[in-house]
Amino acid sequence: MPFLTPMPGNVSMRKFSAVIVSFCLAAVFAKEPLHELVELVTLDPTIKLDIRYATDRNFAGRSVYPEARAFLQCPAAAALLEAHSWLKAQGFGIVVYDAYRPWSVSKLFWELTPPSRRKYVANPSKGSGHNRGCAVDVGLFELRSGRELEMPSSYDEMSGRSSISYAGGTAEQRNHRDLLRRAMERKGHFKVYPPEWWHYTYRNCRKYGILDIPFAAIVPAGGKPCI
Ligand SMILES: [Zn+2]
Repeated sequence: MPFLTPMPGNVSMRKFSAVIVSFCLAAVFAKEPLHELVELVTLDPTIKLDIRYATDRNFAGRSVYPEARAFLQCPAAAALLEAHSWLKAQGFGIVVYDAYRPWSVSKLFWELTPPSRRKYVANPSKGSGHNRGCAVDVGLFELRSGRELEMPSSYDEMSGRSSISYAGGTAEQRNHRDLLRRAMERKGHFKVYPPEWWHYTYRNCRKYGILDIPFAAIVPAGGKPCI
């Protein structure tokens, strides 16, 4: 089997071939970035959606999503559903305000936000956890009534009341905020963004690229389920 003999020329050719293959794969992924996005309600229909960017109830004052849908990278979705299950045992559940967000929508938010308030929106030159499909904006609802629970500020409010350490509001509002944080951070999967009580980032985010796929064009991740 002469072709298995380690000849210097063959080694060079193999290295060259590996470079070409890597280059081709990079080109393919640049066009269609690798992702493991899954739609949350298909995994657990008891999770509640209140996708504010598909309504005019958001800081932009208008709908920027054509569909009220929520996707996350599969491991982040699994971790979120685990937090939801933990809360359900106590009579509560997770309501999702936003999850994967196409990059072009983040760019629009940046342009709509005055410079003094841009700590509340991601710089599109860097992209965000939402663009990678592993940041999620969440609140709590009561299982019995379906009612969303009050927090010290409204969702997307650009003020000090949104801080995770804000000491104002009522004790009940702060208890809700702190219960949500306990549910999300207890296993170490998510970490809160301190200026926003609703924004949590999945810990292993960096392997996913910045995505700009519209919801309607997402082909759910196939292969072995991560859950
Ligand atoms: Zn967010």
